[in-house]
Amino acid sequence: MRILLYGGSFNPPHLGHIRSVQTSAAALRPDRTFLIPAAIPPHKRMAAGSPSPEQRLDMAALAAAEVSDCEPLDIELRRTGPSYTSDTLRQMREAYPDAELVFLMGTDMILSLESWHEPEVILSLASVAVFARETGREREIDECAAHLREKYGAVVYVLEGQPVTVSSTRVRELLPERKGREYLAGGVYEYIIRRRLYGARPDLAWLRERAYAYLKPARVEHVRGAEAMARRLAERWGADESDAAEAAILHDCTKKYDRDGQLRICEKYGIIPDKWEMENDRLLHARTGAAFAADAFGAPEHIASAIRWHTTGRPGMTLLEQIVFLADAIEENRKPYPALELMRKAAFEDLDAATELCLRRTLAFLGERGESIHPNTARTREFYLKKLEEKGVAPIEWMPK
Ligand code: ATP
Repeated sequence: MRILLYGGSFNPPHLGHIRSVQTSAAALRPDRTFLIPAAIPPHKRMAAGSPSPEQRLDMAALAAAEVSDCEPLDIELRRTGPSYTSDTLRQMREAYPDAELVFLMGTDMILSLESWHEPEVILSLASVAVFARETGREREIDECAAHLREKYGAVVYVLEGQPVTVSSTRVRELLPERKGREYLAGGVYEYIIRRRLYGARPDLAWLRERAYAYLKPARVEHVRGAEAMARRLAERWGADESDAAEAAILHDCTKKYDRDGQLRICEKYGIIPDKWEMENDRLLHARTGAAFAADAFGAPEHIASAIRWHTTGRPGMTLLEQIVFLADAIEENRKPYPALELMRKAAFEDLDAATELCLRRTLAFLGERGESIHPNTARTREFYLKKLEEKGVAPIEWMPK
């Protein structure tokens, strides 16, 4: 029986790791393969704010799912102190006395192996398989393998294959820039985004694909329009364009649900609808959307709040909240309605004036239809009217017919 063991920080596990396992499995035909996240890596300082060992184990499980007969092993999480490979191999030898244990590692690791804790124990308990992390270092690896064979009587397999040149460090750098997805298994990426590990922000193409799946097809054009408008407004007013896009992409993510659906989501997230929301359940999607976006897509507070307030607005909105509120109302795919063109123009001249007009028009429209009006709408309008007065800016001239 041959068992392949792959230890590492897996912070996070990436396609370089997965490729190594696939190549090794093809060459060595192991009966079992284990990914073993270190609880406390002895060779590396874990980057500040790194996920917990349990989260790295979860990610190792998601990465392992990409390779047949590969599974995560929590053996090092169950020990205290530094996660020495020699201790892991002792335990594995006890569990599998007759198996050939093969410890898999990349270039950096084999070259430093002699500086590890108890290298002679490691090399007596296990064979080593080395898979290059990058091309051009074959000679160094061969020389090191020859040296280990000679000095320790080690069994060293040097594996050949096209490496994926990436490191967890690089992935951690890319994730906050909405990049790096191409280096991760889909499940690992989703896990990271949902928890916003490493300060990750979602790749917007990925987010669109995911978020649109929650929309009725007819709503997609509106959401596309809202994103485009939110970006333009963010650029005009100096907000983060990609955050504005993210909030707009997610703003209607629970809109398709009817009253029962909305109430179920409220229950799930502990939202207690107020009197007006009970009377008009269309108001609820802003609240349920914010909670769902945070849960399913890890939307951080400032983005969730832009979703939360996009229907009624609130007094003293943040710039992002105001942008999403207006983008939703004036995006290019909206069917014409009174004052729309005035708002579109104003949104690029004075955001507060556009906001006030938008709310004034909503109040008139709902009043005409005799619909119940959420007091936030009136309060928000009052707030922006006063703000205009303080700025010495006249409200935009427009009278409902
Ligand atoms: P970090 O950038 O945080 O130092 P890392 O990318 O080196 O992390 P680890 O989890 O520390 O990843 O590495 C575990 C094992 O995987 C080590 O043996 C390492 O040499 C190997 N490895 C890492 N990246 C690659 C890669 N791109 N190709 C092949 N092997 C790799």
